[in-house]
Amino acid sequence: MSLSQLARTIHESATLKLNQTAAQLRDKGEPVIHLGGGEPKSKTPIDAIVACTGVLNSGDIKYTPADGIPALKKAIIRYTEQHYNRLVKPVNVIASSGAKQAIMVLLHSILDPKDEVIFPAPYWVSYPEMVKLAAGVPVVVKAEDGSFCPTIEEFEAAMGSYTKAVILNSPNNPSGAMYSPGFIAGMVALCEKRNLWLIMDDTYNRLVFDGKPPVNCYEYTNTGIDSSKLVVINCVSKMYAMTGFRIGWAVGNKEVIQAMATIQGQQTSGPATPSQYAAVGALNGVQSSIDSLRLTLENNRNILVGHFRAFPGVKVTCPQGAFYSFPDFSAYYKDSQKLSEFLLEKVRVVTVPGKEFGMDGHLRVSFCGAAKEITEGIERIRWALDPTSPNELYLGDRRLVRDWM
Ligand code: GLU
Repeated sequence: MSLSQLARTIHESATLKLNQTAAQLRDKGEPVIHLGGGEPKSKTPIDAIVACTGVLNSGDIKYTPADGIPALKKAIIRYTEQHYNRLVKPVNVIASSGAKQAIMVLLHSILDPKDEVIFPAPYWVSYPEMVKLAAGVPVVVKAEDGSFCPTIEEFEAAMGSYTKAVILNSPNNPSGAMYSPGFIAGMVALCEKRNLWLIMDDTYNRLVFDGKPPVNCYEYTNTGIDSSKLVVINCVSKMYAMTGFRIGWAVGNKEVIQAMATIQGQQTSGPATPSQYAAVGALNGVQSSIDSLRLTLENNRNILVGHFRAFPGVKVTCPQGAFYSFPDFSAYYKDSQKLSEFLLEKVRVVTVPGKEFGMDGHLRVSFCGAAKEITEGIERIRWALDPTSPNELYLGDRRLVRDWM
């Protein structure tokens, strides 16, 4: 078959693929523990359901403006004012089919062929592929000291005449690390100095632990929104556990938002109408579900870190937000792909190989599931890897014997 060069160079999303693998194994009755997932288990807030069913019941479900219904833009403007202390106008806002599409149409709006987009490792699996889809070149910056956040100097050293944009995601998928206010301030200043786009992927911004406030990038700039190249991305997916609705948004200067709306209009005609109403309901409704999700995740995080700290050979950095940890298993396996496959095959635990996020030797282990599953999942991993564990393990009535070490 003569597929395009582009189609042949784009890799499948490892996170989505593993979700499918876990679901297929579960359907077959396998005792799978899914620690690879990237979505909270809680239910959609009732305000979102009511708003969505309202429009569904009307039977009048038609095209909307390509960049979102006015009510959704208004809710996003209020959100931006409340959480970022920034007053923006409808021309500064676009709603998209998930944060993913918002980033994608943004990249299409700002990149020329061969323009470079810089982001730190570990990075979310989709950034390199999205940059390639927009004809750009992904450039990964790794911290010399092996930490999850390179220095401003390391970023500056990676910048050249082709650099067009930087993407930062904090709290971070896959590490759960939160970049410091000083770092964000430095990156805002550096991008302004070099006239670069700075894309702040704030998908997990409301899921920050230990009573800390999220970092607000707008605090570090005096540039007015319409002369700024700072674009903030958000979505309802994670904070409201509404991944299936596919609603995200971007806030930025009116010129780029207009370009994004034009491209989006040609691509999809805009996000699905019922989903937009659901997002309005969530954003305008009772907000307590975010606090309870954050508390659940923080408790899960504590359980997970406690187990990993007691796991000989595994190095874990305590996640400060989101719902991912990124422990270093290189004392057991350097090849994270092989390790992830081994754990799935032997003990039916799904993890995502660190290689997919630009850091081999690590696994992404999510803690968005039930605390019981997290505990059992890590116990199974330990049983599979730690030679000091007993020689047998029961998964329900299935008896496993460790015959591989
Ligand atoms: N963002 C989530 C994850 O990293 C969901 C899947 C995806 O879109 O990548 O697992």
